[in-house]
This record gives sequence, C-alpha cells and structure tokens, in this order.
Amino acid sequence: MVSKESIFLSIDQALEAVSADFQQYEPQILLFAEIIRLISGGNIFLKKETQKNGAWIGKVGQRKMQWLDGPDLVTYICNMIVATDWNPELMASICSRVFRTHAFPDVDSASGQAGVRIETGMETYCCCQCGQCCQALEYHDQVTVKDVERWQRLGRTDILKWVGTHKKGNGRTAYRIWIRPDTKELAETCPFLQKNSSKNIWVCNIHDVKPAICRQYPVSRKHGLMTGCPGFNAQCRKSRKK
Ligand code: SF4
Ligand code: SF4
Repeated sequence: MVSKESIFLSIDQALEAVSADFQQYEPQILLFAEIIRLISGGNIFLKKETQKNGAWIGKVGQRKMQWLDGPDLVTYICNMIVATDWNPELMASICSRVFRTHAFPDVDSASGQAGVRIETGMETYCCCQCGQCCQALEYHDQVTVKDVERWQRLGRTDILKWVGTHKKGNGRTAYRIWIRPDTKELAETCPFLQKNSSKNIWVCNIHDVKPAICRQYPVSRKHGLMTGCPGFNAQCRKSRKK
C-alpha cells in the first residue's frame, strides 16, 4: 500500500496557505459560499449569479445585500478568515475543502503546537505526459535567473536562443520563454515539446534541464486540479503504466 504524504501546518501557517490559495485563482465562488457559511455559523451567506465573477453577500435577517466581485470578493473573504477565531477542527474542515483533500486536527510532535495535518494527495499523482501543461499554461514569465544561469553554465545555447529579455521597472533584467529567435515573438508552443505519436505521449526534449517552473508543476493536488492536469486521475495513471 502506498503511504499517504502529509504536511503539518500551525493555525497561522494554514491561514496563510488558505489566503494564498484564494489569491492565486479567480474567485472560487461555490467554495467561498461554503466557507462563509461555516465560519459565520450560517449568519452570512453568499449568492452566486450565473456567469458572473462575483456574488451577493448578505446577512440573515437583513434585506440589504452587497455585490462583490473579482479581487474585492477575494479580499472580503481573506479579511473574514483573518478575523475568525480558529480552532484546529474548524481549520481542518476549511483546509479539506480548500485543498480538496483530507485534513484533520493534529499536534506537531516536535513543538507540541496544535494545528492541522493535510494529506497532500501527491502520492497518487503520476504524469501521463498528455502535454497539457506545456501547451496551455501561462508560465512564460516565470523562468528564473537561476534557470538562465544554469543554461549559461552548461553552454546550452540551443535553449538560451529561445529566451527573451526585457528591463523591469527597477532596471533589472527579466526573462521570458519561449521567444522565437527569428521574429522575437512568443512561440506558439514550447520548441522542446515533441509528440511521440506511436506512444501517444508528449516528450520534453530538455527534461533534465527544464525550467524550475516546469519541474515543479503541479505544486499541489489543488494546483493540478485547478489547471487541468489529469495526473491525479486513475485513468491517466493507468495509461502511463502501459
Ligand atoms: S498536465 Fe499533468 S499529466 Fe499532463 S503532462 Fe502536464 S504534468 Fe503531466
Ligand atoms: S521545457 Fe519541457 S516541460 Fe517545459 S514547457 Fe517545454 S516541453 Fe514542457
């Protein structure tokens, strides 16, 4: 049996992780509705409107409601969770919803601190080389100075010629991948992604030295699920084992 990976977070660390999750994606309205209901004990509710990126927030017994959308809605819920009087049980219940995995109250064996243990679900992940992340995600500005320095050290001019540069507001050089050497425009797809038709998979031709952003994807089960990675899906894993 595969053992389950988990991480321990103190209440403050869990709060930070939950806020970071809310800020990372477009407003997760159904999730927010559930969380607001739980932490307000049902006194505050959120009403979604079809195809809108926001929601009405209301209080039980009050007719007036407030419309919030986009970052304002995210800020509202972040402020609400900061003001909540947390206990490990409530935090575990919120974390399991936010990170779409099992979470439970626990005590850190080293410090004796109370918090939550979150099962990462990463032991069930297996890349089936569908190529979705390479083709659909917006990672182009996330190449790092370290990536570029590594390629320079290794003399990988084949990679470096696809790296664009520009100056940031603070005068520092920022990098962008993958920029066509001939037109200096963003390439339609990564030049190092190759289809293996006989196996029906996509292969990274610079796998051993690919950028950190590619190596680290997906950073969590939630990240994979939110960005369309099928690697947590049993069918995808099965196809990989063939
Ligand atoms: S989307 Fe997921 S399964 Fe598909 S190639 Fe990327 S990491 Fe692998
Ligand atoms: S470098 Fe490799 S992993 Fe990254 S986008 Fe290109 S093919 Fe995909």
